[in-house]
Amino acid sequence: LELNLVPIHQENNEFSGLLLVLQDVTAIRRLERMRSEFVANVSHELKTPIAAVKGFAETLLGGAVNDEETARSFLQIIFDESDRLNRLIGDILALSKIESKRVPLYFSPVELDSFMLKTVTMMETEAARKSIKLDLQMENGLYVEADEDRLRQIMMNVIANGINYTPEGGKVSVNIRSLDEDHIRIQISDTGIGIPKKDLPRIFERFYRVDKARSRSSGGTGLGLSIVKHLIELHKGTISVTSEVGNGSTFVIELPVLQQ
Ligand code: ADP
Repeated sequence: LELNLVPIHQENNEFSGLLLVLQDVTAIRRLERMRSEFVANVSHELKTPIAAVKGFAETLLGGAVNDEETARSFLQIIFDESDRLNRLIGDILALSKIESKRVPLYFSPVELDSFMLKTVTMMETEAARKSIKLDLQMENGLYVEADEDRLRQIMMNVIANGINYTPEGGKVSVNIRSLDEDHIRIQISDTGIGIPKKDLPRIFERFYRVDKARSRSSGGTGLGLSIVKHLIELHKGTISVTSEVGNGSTFVIELPVLQQ
């Protein structure tokens, strides 16, 4: 609680008393703390690729540039890390826009048959690269009222994770059905590495990664699921996850058919 004393004056400016204001500032303080934690996280995340770019450029300038093979591999690292920086900044901006609700959503009826077929086809190449089977099963004739681009972003993110965290030869299945008159249920399961129980409640937090090295090497920013969760909430839906280490994970998204 914060205590404030506000003097009260009459019309002729004469002092007439004190107003005592007791304010519960817990929520405000928590918001401030979250904001400064976010800034600290962002700085930390940006520092790593910047340090790599700087370090390898320095070594090149220091003479490594004369050895063609070394030069090539260092330049590749510099290129990859710049790419990563780009993605990070893109995700950070997207998240901050979504969180402050500065994203306009354009709702329209989305016919799921063709929408999902198109979305899954877009992920086909990535899956094929790891010989992962992408399976789509759905009831015909379903639709939801959604922002189509955002819905695609949601689906692609979760499917891409399934592919990323599943070893070669595995499978990612997408299953869509109507839950009741007003809701549909989208289930995305993989046969991947799974998520330890203790990490499950935290994977939707920004920058939270079970295995930092693994996420980095697959190009992850740790922001994907956090963006997904916000976008689903803007659609008045929910997302949840169950998982078993070594056996795979299942993400369940429930969306209302109509936005009121
Ligand atoms: P990242 O960019 O690291 O993939 P996300 O926000 O998309 O970030 O996911 C957060 C973390 O959750 C990942 O780093 C990973 O540890 C875990 N994760 C997400 N999806 C899966 C999955 N399908 N299988 C196993 N782990 C997953």
